[in-house]
Amino acid sequence: MRGLSRYLIISLLLWAGLVSHVAANRIYIKDINGLLSKEELATLRAVMAREVEFHSQVLNLYDPLFVPIKVFRTREEYQRYVERDTPGWRPSGGFYSPVRREVVLYKHREYMQTLLHEAQHLVFAAGLTRPPTWLNEALSEVFEMADVRENGVFTQIKQKRQAQLQSWLESGDMPKLASFFALSYEGWESLVMEPEPVSYTLSWGVGYFLMSSAQGRKSIHDTIRYIRDTDWRYQGVIYPGGLVALERDFHRFVLDMPAEYEL
Ligand SMILES: [Zn+2]
Repeated sequence: MRGLSRYLIISLLLWAGLVSHVAANRIYIKDINGLLSKEELATLRAVMAREVEFHSQVLNLYDPLFVPIKVFRTREEYQRYVERDTPGWRPSGGFYSPVRREVVLYKHREYMQTLLHEAQHLVFAAGLTRPPTWLNEALSEVFEMADVRENGVFTQIKQKRQAQLQSWLESGDMPKLASFFALSYEGWESLVMEPEPVSYTLSWGVGYFLMSSAQGRKSIHDTIRYIRDTDWRYQGVIYPGGLVALERDFHRFVLDMPAEYEL
């Protein structure tokens, strides 16, 4: 069983009290400024349910999960709100605040993607205090491309990023995963700059690779479990064959990426 039908059946069983399942986490979304449509809220809810299901396999998420969202009409209103807490900070289209546990954004051209991206940060933070930056961004980058359909939640390719990854492979400039994973938050931020947002390109690529197979998803879960139980500073990936195998498989994947797949 896949996607929505599986979700519906699990929901029915839960409702009937027959099984206790991780997807039982109650999600309360509050659109504080009332700027999101019913359809947008339904999309957000469906994607968050999938995120909760994914993370709940290894983490105890807050239940109920409160999701306060502040959407602003303009960049100016948004910036004014940011200034109240952190004067001088100029975030891009949106962010998740771990202090207020809220998602903040404004209505720019791709605000729905930003909303789905930041929502993943909220869900991950509801189970793990300090997820590694690269992994947190990798999952958000994949979930922001979610497309909710009757038969499931799909994620779609980011073509510009794919082109960048392929050209790195061709020119021999593909950054090494070991040094990428080891980046501190500051190191990560220093590689965000346009026109080549190296860190986001790589995190999306590795995320899109790992989430595309059962083995890859297991790797993410094993990694999170290891961080949770053994070493909260761990920045690598638990992968069969280790980093060498991961790098090899990732490069192969980059050469032939699927246009989309079910999450
Ligand atoms: Zn992010």
